[in-house]
Amino acid sequence: MAEDQMAAMVQTRADPQTGQPLSALGFGCMRFPRTLSGGIDAAKTERLVVEAVRRGVNYFDTAYVYGDSEETLGGILEKNNLRGKVNIATKLPVFGCRKPEDFERIFSEQLARLRTDHIDYYLIHNLGAVGTWERLRGLGVERWIADKKASGQIGRIGFSFHGSKANFLELLEIYPWEFVQIQYNYLNPMDQAGVEGLRAIAAKGLAAIIMEPLLGGKLANPNKKTAAAFTESTHPGWPPAEWALRWLLNQPEVTVILSGMNAMDQLHGNLQASREAAPGHLSETDSTAFSKARKCFAEASRVGCTGCGYCMPCPKGVNIPGCFTAYNISYGASYADGMKNYLMTVGVSDPDHYAGVRNCVNCGVCAKKCPQSIAIPRELRRARWRLDFPFLMPAVRLAVGLMGRRRRGGKAAV
Ligand code: SF4
Ligand code: SF4
Repeated sequence: MAEDQMAAMVQTRADPQTGQPLSALGFGCMRFPRTLSGGIDAAKTERLVVEAVRRGVNYFDTAYVYGDSEETLGGILEKNNLRGKVNIATKLPVFGCRKPEDFERIFSEQLARLRTDHIDYYLIHNLGAVGTWERLRGLGVERWIADKKASGQIGRIGFSFHGSKANFLELLEIYPWEFVQIQYNYLNPMDQAGVEGLRAIAAKGLAAIIMEPLLGGKLANPNKKTAAAFTESTHPGWPPAEWALRWLLNQPEVTVILSGMNAMDQLHGNLQASREAAPGHLSETDSTAFSKARKCFAEASRVGCTGCGYCMPCPKGVNIPGCFTAYNISYGASYADGMKNYLMTVGVSDPDHYAGVRNCVNCGVCAKKCPQSIAIPRELRRARWRLDFPFLMPAVRLAVGLMGRRRRGGKAAV
């Protein structure tokens, strides 16, 4: 890599409420490098984190349920004396909060893991529906947040989201959030909160943190036909991952893009892509590459759902576009990625508001509204055979709960 590329510093974008400069490229800590035995490769992760901070990355996103991620990050920051240079974002697991004292128990554990006395950006993790927030309110979450903010232990409060657009727009209004994290990428700008959700965040003057910009790496390594849409375009030298990041950075509403980097070349590539991609830097001609790439992806997909949401709401609460996105990912990327996306989308953290395919009663109301003429009930049945089965949700929740219990009091990996 050329020296000037190696020296690439990331651009910053201001938190709209505070004016604080945040690096437009944030470090997603869910995908830290792994050893052959499956644990986090602490040495490799340390090199990546130190290099990222050196290049100006100042936003690190982790979560209580990301395995050893919090401990590893906390250990690296402490060892290298970097805590004062970065913002830590971490998340409160909704499913782990059943009693009022759970908020404090989990939060204290997070502070210990992260070796810090405060969290800069704290999120309610995968808040899926208003009903879930009401349940947390019943446990006193609003008072608890107010106390934590008053004491300085929580800087900014927000939520992360994977559900339907309608739920997102409701949730945005239900509490004075200070930032929001959504899944968003060029492949399907209408999916989940979508572009409408992004603009609603900006209209409220909040920072928009973007997750899954590369859809778990799928957009960095597309099939040959899709990749050709970019190499035969206006900027043949930009790799697919750079196009994906530039598409996001082109939008002024985007504050931080989280990328789960687990190799130095990924970090340098992302830094290069996000160094100077200012809002509005892409041309009309550039946008044709995205249209072509979307078309190629759609041709390789099982269900040609555009995520428009016209079929919603389903009277039985099925998140139809979310289910189809996960179903397509399970073929287009990997089964594991599709399953993970499915669980996040339909309510693994939200037992009271399951929005998966098992709820479908085959009424057919949705299919009449689909501009793509998708036989929705039939396709949902196929998605069900692939991604959902009896006891899946209870089994996953039990496993996550047991994992959390076993890990309590665990030691940092660095
Ligand atoms: S067919 Fe299924 S998904 Fe469609 S509206 Fe009826 S219950 Fe909902
Ligand atoms: S109306 Fe059709 S294309 Fe639009 S989200 Fe529903 S299934 Fe997908």
